[in-house]
Amino acid sequence: MHKSFHVGRGYSSPAAERQPVRLRVPVYIDDSGYVQNAGFMFKPIEKLEGGPLRGPIAIVMHRTAGSTVESALAAYRSSGYGTHFTIDKDGAIYQTASLKQFTRHVGTIAPRCIREGTCVGDEERKLNLLSYKGKHDHEIRKTYPARYPINEDSIGIEVVARHIPQEARWDPATGHQQESVSRLIAVLFKEFNITSSDTYEHDKISYKTLGEGAGLYGGIDSLPVTLPEPII
Ligand SMILES: [Zn+2]
Repeated sequence: MHKSFHVGRGYSSPAAERQPVRLRVPVYIDDSGYVQNAGFMFKPIEKLEGGPLRGPIAIVMHRTAGSTVESALAAYRSSGYGTHFTIDKDGAIYQTASLKQFTRHVGTIAPRCIREGTCVGDEERKLNLLSYKGKHDHEIRKTYPARYPINEDSIGIEVVARHIPQEARWDPATGHQQESVSRLIAVLFKEFNITSSDTYEHDKISYKTLGEGAGLYGGIDSLPVTLPEPII
């Protein structure tokens, strides 16, 4: 004889209430200095981290001078030079260092008053007698924003793009990269006391190939009105 068990009547929510739950979760920086809930890919590279990051008080925009994110990350691993974030051609954002640590991405800074025509008295003449290193050492005694940001107090963002020397140009950012730059910068503006005027192009503040940081970040107008939060 077939024996059956009555397992009881199941109750469930109407279909409309049984769709996958979508939760809005806040983006935040965790205790180890990584951005959570923003969909970033974490690829920590210990060699990039140089010591405690002060502030941070600024963001510096770079291009990688390569065609893939893998080649950029490989260079960070071997050289120890690189940024906190790298944005691939498809807009994927890689975080490679803690935001509690500085990375070596700026190098020698140029005198801000010379670049911007604001030197007072004979400072420009004196500065011009110094080597690049001497100018840098002179500048770092100043308090930001009298000088440009340095490794120890700024966040670095690289965008994967080639430099084409024969044509003296860089690959323009893809639409996905521009969107990701805006999204990442919105997160950083919210978390730190940093604004559009603290966001710099590497070649404008150092001695780098012209245009390296151009056209990546369009200023405050390019920011989303509200910080987009991922839906999980
Ligand atoms: Zn750079």
